[in-house]
Amino acid sequence: MKNILITGGAGFIGSHTAVELTVAGYGVVIADNLSNSDTTSLEGIEKITGRKILFYKADCCDKKQMQKIFGENKIDGAIHFAAFKAVGESVQKPLMYYYNNLTSFTTLLEVMAESGGGNVVFSSSATVYGQADVLPVTEETPRKTAASPYGNTKQVCEDILQDAVRAHSDLQGIILRYFNPIGAHPSALIGESPRGIPNNLVPFITQTAAGIRRELQIFGNDYNTPDGTALRDYIDIMDLAAAHVSALKRMTDHQSAGTCEVFNVGTGNPLSVMELVVKFQEVNKVNLKYSITGRREGDVEAIWADTSLANKVLGWKARRSIEETLANAWAWEKKLRRII
Ligand code: UDP
Repeated sequence: MKNILITGGAGFIGSHTAVELTVAGYGVVIADNLSNSDTTSLEGIEKITGRKILFYKADCCDKKQMQKIFGENKIDGAIHFAAFKAVGESVQKPLMYYYNNLTSFTTLLEVMAESGGGNVVFSSSATVYGQADVLPVTEETPRKTAASPYGNTKQVCEDILQDAVRAHSDLQGIILRYFNPIGAHPSALIGESPRGIPNNLVPFITQTAAGIRRELQIFGNDYNTPDGTALRDYIDIMDLAAAHVSALKRMTDHQSAGTCEVFNVGTGNPLSVMELVVKFQEVNKVNLKYSITGRREGDVEAIWADTSLANKVLGWKARRSIEETLANAWAWEKKLRRII
């Protein structure tokens, strides 16, 4: 059995990926400092998979802790999620973001290189494209200067991985650029639970529907889009998780150490904020209070993925419908808030 270290595995994307990897027959080791998550997600993973998860409460910036994990386990590969992710906070606290996001990744790569190498998946973001001139974006679309320190850490970490695999011939990498991950596991045992006021659209919607937030603010309806609200590519969290299994398989099947491929992970279908709000209400038969306010600083007008490379090379495709995804998101929120 191949063992994969998931850094940040107690978080939203990490926990769903841990489920998919376990189901696919991988051994999963999770390292997480629980700075933005808690162990409830680990219990959820164990309930869904019926398997015990090996968990280390560890900070990836701490080399000794990482060496301990690699010393105690045979790790064949790693998926790196452990990072701060709030765009606004990164503008307020750039040094904290640069320190954490860059140190955790370089430390992981250093320890891997010292322990005989392996396969690495880095969780990047469509944010690296900024507002692209041509849509949909392919992996060849030029990256734009990052609009925030957070976005810049994604770009720099991409570069770090590219350089690291070039220099360490036993390392191999894949960069996955996520579009907008939403939803929850259909069991409602794991899902997204942001601390404080959610920044992202779908958790804000589910919390508003649950009565925790008074109303949703739609940030701008004066964009140059069909209904004036911004366009995004919303991808189901389980589809996204499955892309990591495909990425690891790709690296095992096509051993070519010293290389690092890049893939967009989205659906290829643009959806406007307003369309998503309407769909959420229809699918879940709830009324959502919302108002239109001004644009949010730093938001792009429209972005969606060309996914043909991932479809062809990884043999991966997003399968879940937006309806299914929004139903799962609401089921998770209801379970969390004990709404019958
Ligand atoms: N959005 C919104 N109200 C909110 C949160 C988000 O209108 O309370 C909009 C946001 O302006 C963007 C889209 O929803 O157009 C997706 O935002 P999100 O923060 O989820 O992801 P992003 O694309 O910014 O990474």
